[in-house]
Amino acid sequence: GLSERLQAVMQKLRGKGKVSESDVKEAMREVRLALLEADVNFKVVKDFVKGVTERAVGQEVLKGLNPAQQVIKVVNEELTQLMGGEQSKLVQANRPPTKIMMVGLQGAGKTTTSGKLARFLTKQNRRPLLVAGDVYRPAAIKQLQILGQDLKTPVFSLGDQESPVKIAQQGVEQAKQENYDYVIIDTAGRLHIDGTMMEELKQIKEKIEPDEILLVVDAMTGQDAVNVAQSFHRELGLTGVVLTKLDGDTRGGAALSVKAVTQCPIKFVGLGEKTDALEPFYPDRMASRILGMGDVLSLIDKVQAEVDQEKAKEFAEKMRTQTFSFDDFLEQLQQVKKMGPLEDMLSMLPGAGQVKGLKNLQVDEKQLGRIEAIIRSMTPKERMQPEIINANRRKRIAMGSGTKVQDVNRLLKQFDDMKKMMKQMTAMTKGGKRKKGGM
Ligand code: GDP
Ligand code: MG
Repeated sequence: GLSERLQAVMQKLRGKGKVSESDVKEAMREVRLALLEADVNFKVVKDFVKGVTERAVGQEVLKGLNPAQQVIKVVNEELTQLMGGEQSKLVQANRPPTKIMMVGLQGAGKTTTSGKLARFLTKQNRRPLLVAGDVYRPAAIKQLQILGQDLKTPVFSLGDQESPVKIAQQGVEQAKQENYDYVIIDTAGRLHIDGTMMEELKQIKEKIEPDEILLVVDAMTGQDAVNVAQSFHRELGLTGVVLTKLDGDTRGGAALSVKAVTQCPIKFVGLGEKTDALEPFYPDRMASRILGMGDVLSLIDKVQAEVDQEKAKEFAEKMRTQTFSFDDFLEQLQQVKKMGPLEDMLSMLPGAGQVKGLKNLQVDEKQLGRIEAIIRSMTPKERMQPEIINANRRKRIAMGSGTKVQDVNRLLKQFDDMKKMMKQMTAMTKGGKRKKGGM
């Protein structure tokens, strides 16, 4: 496979004490062949090899202490760039539900991936609603319903007699009314790109205005996957791609070409038939994996995620027991960038879904700096007991933080609202079961 071949090329370089220009060129010829054989788009290969050679042949590398390693580093960086550089995350709508429309050819894995996504979101304490919009393929609705049952995720369906457009619209409506965070619409595919299918997808897009249009493509189809992505993108304007069946005997070309050819980022990869076989796509890790540089990054990230998870639980506990102070709030703000908005943390609380107004607590990232300054201008006592902050203190805090009294007022009000909500939640979760749907 691609990985083995590239690793062999890199290994050969590693064995050399010094790397000459001709060594680099020789290596790049082999890289080029390996990529072409892996079914990477021809133009992409050309640009890639040119980019790497330019950087690697330059003095930057040849004067280095360990030239071979530097070449590998360049290849790794360029591979990462090729696949989009940064990880491209799932969009989150300002106002829930975030609407995700799944599109793609028949058999690509739309329905399976819809289920996988539902599971992925549920794991993050989000509530997804699945919508059965494939009314053409026999048993497609049943397939989604079975997935939903296994995942304990509700599936919206109107049977196979209604139009997919209507199903999508009503599904979204239901998600709004029942306060779902996400609504995932499974649609019908055809064996080939087809005008009728596109027309229908366009209508759905127009009516529901999705936040994400995810194209599901089968990685095993190599160049075809890229062509399919190009067509769908031209017609619909995709927001991302899910590459399925990467677990199979794929040559890997699609993963390397999709972004470069379509400009659409790969957001997830499917690695098996089961619902847990979905992973966010990380260009840097994929590059490292292809080059066989170990999966150190993945490991570090996993450890980090666990540490963050612990922190989040700690906060949730403080909220629950109403011992949450401005100091905690401040610490939370500093975590925001790393672990997502306050809302995420609140949603970990039992019963949080039922509290109205929770969504209004979203913290605007641009305001974070100001909020931080305000809290920093409070005395320790004020942070613990905000109720002592009278008009004089407000003025002092505003002056100290370079903000306006209104800003201080607003923050105090927000904090107060939050505490009230926590109280509600605690009341709700006390003494066992809540009434369904009740406040
Ligand atoms: P749809 O027609 O696009 O909805 O495709 P389905 O979701 O029904 O999937 C078609 C087939 O591909 C099913 O047998 C799935 O189990 C299988 N499949 C989907 N994703 C993956 C994947 O990531 N890996 C593997 N090995 N099989 C997959
Ligand atoms: Mg399907």
